[in-house]
Amino acid sequence: MRKNIVAGNWKMNANANAASELIKNLKKSDFSETTEVIIAPSYTNLAIANELITGSSIELSSQNMHESDRGAFTGEVSAEMLKSVGVTYVILGHSERRAIYKESSELLKSKVDQALKNDLKPIFCVGEELKDRKDENHFKVVKNQLSESLFHLSSEQMKNIVLAYEPVWAIGTGETASPEQAQEMHAYIRKLLSDQFSSEIANGISILYGGSVKPGNAKDIFANKDVDGGLIGGAALKAEDFTAIINSFE
Ligand code: PEP
Repeated sequence: MRKNIVAGNWKMNANANAASELIKNLKKSDFSETTEVIIAPSYTNLAIANELITGSSIELSSQNMHESDRGAFTGEVSAEMLKSVGVTYVILGHSERRAIYKESSELLKSKVDQALKNDLKPIFCVGEELKDRKDENHFKVVKNQLSESLFHLSSEQMKNIVLAYEPVWAIGTGETASPEQAQEMHAYIRKLLSDQFSSEIANGISILYGGSVKPGNAKDIFANKDVDGGLIGGAALKAEDFTAIINSFE
């Protein structure tokens, strides 16, 4: 049985005080025990978050990571540094990294390899832009993103990957993919995984949906059989909303 997961991507929000407050409020919340809860604060807040989540079931993710072990890479953070402050997941391939920082599939492939080599689990994001969907290229775009960065992995390595389908046109826009659009793409991704690896691998991988998920729409999206949770941006910044989303599985 694959895991239900809800992960909060805080992006470049919350200073140390605000991050601590948010975590303290989350810890007071009543989560469903069957859902894995992950938070991804900014680099500067990871160490403090690690202390604050001790004793809770919340897992820690970073929002990015460098692909090298160490060295002269001013401003960058390595997998080993992340591990040393209790990080267990790393978001890779987020559309903001792809679009703003021009991260290519090739670079993401090396980041995935580096994460796995260091026992960090990638939350690997894929998703088409609005133009791709209008041109009916959305399946092709997602297939390429997956194959270019992940299909060199072994089945054993794939077991440590979490996928997030995030249509770019739905991120931070208030526009959500319909539950049918989400299910259609998630089923397509699972079929690709089955063809490339095996049905056992495909059925074991959690595929999260991301893009303007809120307490009001989470239930309908999570009710789909191939949607195993969400990667949440804006709504992860309020403990009450994030908790309501976590508790939105049937
Ligand atoms: C995201 O950035 O991963 C995201 C899904 O953002 P939002 O929920 O704000 O659309």
